[in-house]
Amino acid sequence: MPWLSIPFSDLETKRALNSKFEIEAIPFLVILQPEDNKYEATIHDGVELLNRFGVQAFPFTKERLEELEMEEKEKRESQTLINLLTNHDRDYLLGHPAAKQVPVASLVGKTLGLYFSAQWCLPGVKFTPKLISIYQKIKQMVVHKGNEDDFEIVFVSSDRDQAAFDSYFNSMPWLTLPFGDPANKILAKHFDVKGIPCLVILGPDGKTVTKHGRNLINLYKENAYPFTEAQVDLLEKQIDEEAKSLPKSKYHAGHRHELGLVSEGTGGGPFICCDCDEQGSGWAYLCLECGYEVHTKCVRAVDRGSMVDS
Ligand SMILES: [Zn+2]
Ligand SMILES: [Zn+2]
Repeated sequence: MPWLSIPFSDLETKRALNSKFEIEAIPFLVILQPEDNKYEATIHDGVELLNRFGVQAFPFTKERLEELEMEEKEKRESQTLINLLTNHDRDYLLGHPAAKQVPVASLVGKTLGLYFSAQWCLPGVKFTPKLISIYQKIKQMVVHKGNEDDFEIVFVSSDRDQAAFDSYFNSMPWLTLPFGDPANKILAKHFDVKGIPCLVILGPDGKTVTKHGRNLINLYKENAYPFTEAQVDLLEKQIDEEAKSLPKSKYHAGHRHELGLVSEGTGGGPFICCDCDEQGSGWAYLCLECGYEVHTKCVRAVDRGSMVDS
């Protein structure tokens, strides 16, 4: 760290600060204003602000934050599918077979996934087949319900050359922006994409539904569709209900210790699954001692007898 520190041995100061700012979980960033030490002027959610606004949040005053909120609101209100995906020279996307042009206007009114990925990105290459299978299931599901085909995905590439782009896009059944089109970079900036693969979901009105499409796909597969808060609430309730019947502890083939069932309220929280390497949150099985944590669906249960330390 390039900044200062309270000496490790100064327990008293550390305790006093923890209690003054009611620190319950870390990382926690408190920001004090130089000339205003009133409680209201002190920022308690610095971590969230930095995640949301980055360096723009400086100097973290009430005025600056209101300005940023306003900018975000305006950006949201002016966001439409057409101004996100077209420009002066192009009003179409590309599909299959090779280079078939699909007008952006034909996508208005659909739920749309923007898939930020590249062939050089290993987690992306691992996630793509999963997304393809779920994309196909969502399509089937939508048609089965008698609705019009109202879901599509658009690949937003950060591949470094045309050949890599071509071979990657050829594995995908959905649409794409042309390789090298400025919109690829503009969209990554607009949605503040910090790492790939990333799946941003737009609603039928062209507004952002969520930037955590990848996470929702990992957690709920095709059931995540249409990715709205209402759908996620519903799924969470179902999962809480199902978790009631899960064993409180289990032995898993991939770990030598017994794993305990945890959730947000009981020592859980966001994690990276040690079995499938994808993100998770909510219910999980955890070995507290090792920090080994897996999705409930990733547990391959074994009986205790076969796990005796060798
Ligand atoms: Zn997993
Ligand atoms: Zn362990």
